Order: sequence, then structure tokens, then C-alpha cells
Amino acid sequence: MTNYEIYDLAGNVISSIANDLQNGIYDKLNGELSIIWSEERSVNAWAESSNDINKPACHKIGFTYELVRQIYRDIESYCKYIECNIDNKLFETLFQDDAQPLNLLATHFSKEAYTSNMFIGAITWIFFHELGHLNQEHGYIRNVFNGTTISSIHECNINTKKLIKGKESAISHVTELAADFEAVHFCILELIRQFKGDNLKPSIFIFMCGISCVLYRFHGANPFIKEEVPIGSHPNPLIRLENMVPQIYEYLSIPALHKVINIELSRESLVKMCQTASTTVGLFWLKINYIKPKISDNFFLMGPLNRPGMISYLSIIIKTWDEIEPTIKTVRRTGTKLGLLNFTEELRTLLNNIPNYDNKNKVILLKYKPYKCRRKIIKRVIIKDVKSTYLSI
Ligand SMILES: [Zn+2]
Repeated sequence: MTNYEIYDLAGNVISSIANDLQNGIYDKLNGELSIIWSEERSVNAWAESSNDINKPACHKIGFTYELVRQIYRDIESYCKYIECNIDNKLFETLFQDDAQPLNLLATHFSKEAYTSNMFIGAITWIFFHELGHLNQEHGYIRNVFNGTTISSIHECNINTKKLIKGKESAISHVTELAADFEAVHFCILELIRQFKGDNLKPSIFIFMCGISCVLYRFHGANPFIKEEVPIGSHPNPLIRLENMVPQIYEYLSIPALHKVINIELSRESLVKMCQTASTTVGLFWLKINYIKPKISDNFFLMGPLNRPGMISYLSIIIKTWDEIEPTIKTVRRTGTKLGLLNFTEELRTLLNNIPNYDNKNKVILLKYKPYKCRRKIIKRVIIKDVKSTYLSI
């Protein structure tokens, strides 16, 4: 696909969703949603609002052409990586009796269909992430709680050179996670609207691959650096991805939903499938960016509470969310509570009971056993494997 064909496909997808939202939601609110395309050579998307919560919504979502071009090229390369079978043995060792990635991609969809569906899933998720910021008026929220005067929220820090910290960073991080949550909810509704029965399972896998490609692109080739307190404008992309996975499998494993979608999806199979998607994207990302013969610690998803620093980090995030949630509920434009970030009582109790978790370096597996054993295999198998194959991709 040429770059112009990528821009064309992205433009059609985004315009179509935006028109549906204008006709279905914004018209009823007397509001307006418009799309901006920028030729700036950065990988960026953003959300702009008048931030006047007493007036009808005046919202804009912006994309750079470079963002959609880069995401498509990443996805195209990832699909080639899976198709070329170069890591078949590694995948068989990692995923054993679970569905293998190429089968999940290619059994129900043609090569063209799964590549474009993955791209559409990825840019749709980005679009809905920006919509999540606007729907909850996060610009207004940040101004009220941080004393700032921003009118737009960017996914890369083109306007702010200073590194934000403390409360300002915590508000920024939690609103990013809240936008992720709204985005995943919107995307799941779209998935189950478009795909049912046997086609739904591979569609979930393809969507998960798409958002993993986006988040690994945002993460880059850097090692994961432990973050016990929020710093900067955005959470680490791996933390974001890791927090979205439970939302996907918890929602889709609700038994009452299965009659509607014509397929039974067990929680365990969804966890494994989501992990297969994110792990293969992580492997692909590691290979195309490979520099040293060493696997970066914590580069793959490992379950939110197993990640170093997350107990302290999540405690701050939850406290900050509890502070701003009542205001968000009053300004949120549309949507059910299922799109609103929430933390279970189980998680809250757990965090309260293990304040020194990180210091003691304990491992809490909870419901994420597959993460631990696969991580061990990755550590053992991949090092020699990466050395021999990364240059071939
Ligand atoms: Zn954002």
C-alpha cells in the first residue's frame, strides 16, 4: 500500500466514525465534532476542546499523517514477521497448545483483511482515546485540578518542554488511563457490533495486536524504567497496555454477553489470546530495535501487579482518580458507567494490605499465572534466538 493509500484509508475510517458520532450523539447535544489532519512530521494525535462545560461540546480531534503512516508500516512489518514463520519454534514453545499467532490471523481472514483490520483497529483505538479525553473534558479537569490553562491534550509533548511531576503528573496520568478505558470500551462495542460467532475471536486477537503495535511504538526500544510515582504527562505505554488487557478479557468473558455475540469466550482463553498478541508484538519490536544481546527486564506484559513499582504507582493513581471522578461524572458528555475507569474493591483492598510489596520484592501472581511461566520461557529461549534472527526481519 502506498502512503497516499494509507492516508486515504485512515481518512475514510476516521471520517466515517466521526460522522456517525456527529449524527448519533453530538447533534443531540447541539455540539460539534471535527477532525484535523496535520502534515507535521511527528507521530502525534491530539484532542482540543473549548473547555466550556456549560456550553454544547465544541470538540476537535487531530492526527498527523505521519502517525497513521508509521502505524500502518509497523503493522505491515509485524504481519510479515508472523507470516515468515521465522519464530515458529519459539511460538510453539511459548504458546504450546494455545492457538498459534498465524492461525489466529489467517484462519478466518485473508492477508489483506487482517492487515487492514489491524490498522483500522489501531487508529480507531487512537481516535476513541482522543474522544475519551473530550467526552470527559480532561482539558477542563486538568485546568481545574492543576491550575493550568490548556485547551488541547497531545499524545506527544510537542508544546511542553518541562517535565511535569507530582500532582500535575498524577492528574495527567490518570486522565490518560481514563481515556484508554473509554477507548477500549468503545472499541469492544464496535468489535461485537461488526463481528459475531467464530469471526469474533480472531477479531479480538487482531485488535489486540493493533493496539500493542501502537503502544510499543510509543514505548520505543527503551528498557522499562520502574516508576513508583507518576512522572511526565503520560504513563509508560507498557503500563497502559497492561491495564487495558484485563478490561478486554473481563468484559468479553461476561456470560450474558455470549448469547448476543454467538460464541462462548472463556476468561482463560481471552487472557492467553491477549497475551499471545502482546507478546508477539513485543518480540517483533525487540527484534527490529535490537541493539544489545540482553532482554530488557519487564519488556513484556507480566500482569499489572507483578510489574516493579506498580503497587506504589497504582495507589497514587487510585487516590487521584477518587479525587477527580465526581467532577468527571458531572462534566462527562455521554456514555454508560461501563466506559468510566474503575478500580475493583479487590484491588483496593490488596493495595492497602501490601504497602511494602516492592521493598520486599515479593511476587504476587493473582490471576496471571500464564504471564510468569511464559516470561521465564522468553528469558530462556529468546536470547540466542534473537541473535540469530533479528537481522532477517
Ligand atoms: Zn491521551
